[in-house]
Amino acid sequence: MEGLSRNASNKVKLKFKITDGRLKDPNFNKVQMPKKKKPAQVCTISEVQNASAQFIQEEVICKATIISIETTEIWNQLICTSCYRDTQMENNKQHCKYCSRIVPHPLKRFHVTAIAQDDTGDLKIILKDREIRNLIHKYVEELETEDNSFPKKIKDIEGSGYTIKLLITSRNVEKRDLSYIATDIVTGYNYIDESVQQKDSSMQTSTSAAEPSGSSIQLDEISQLDYATQ
Ligand SMILES: [Zn+2]
Repeated sequence: MEGLSRNASNKVKLKFKITDGRLKDPNFNKVQMPKKKKPAQVCTISEVQNASAQFIQEEVICKATIISIETTEIWNQLICTSCYRDTQMENNKQHCKYCSRIVPHPLKRFHVTAIAQDDTGDLKIILKDREIRNLIHKYVEELETEDNSFPKKIKDIEGSGYTIKLLITSRNVEKRDLSYIATDIVTGYNYIDESVQQKDSSMQTSTSAAEPSGSSIQLDEISQLDYATQ
């Protein structure tokens, strides 16, 4: 089997570009990915609620108590095995409208609605699979109950303080949609975002909320780029 040889001189490199067309969809980039890696700013709940358009697709960090888990809402959802987006029931089968296909064995993922509160207000947040698993170390399948009741383990998230990273979407800003998507969560308030630490050590103390000091961040990125290519 010459093809499997580890000898570098025999190696032929092939580069595949695997795509399902999502990247051509302008909404895909908009919804799925933050604009660029940038230190997340620590904000109060009221600052998140009043965030201006310049925060769209930015992540911010809130330190808040989860005062309630909405047990009347769904706590898990079925997603497509190809594109990982929600499937819908059609003619008794799960169907993905993005892939235009029946999904015979959709994946089950957490989708929990919670209310986070600090001294400035409260906010409806969506905790998805990774965030819930970070907190309770369980998969959906481990919490399913026969009578389909709301799992106590999820309810137990209530009442504690968390550091929550939220992604501000255009819906949040333009339509004042009250649900914010959590992109990370840890228990307690001592969590320090590494990117924030970097920012603090390389910048003068500029804490203006209106001016997220884009120029110095760009400089950081450029210097990292130079370093990487040398
Ligand atoms: Zn799909």
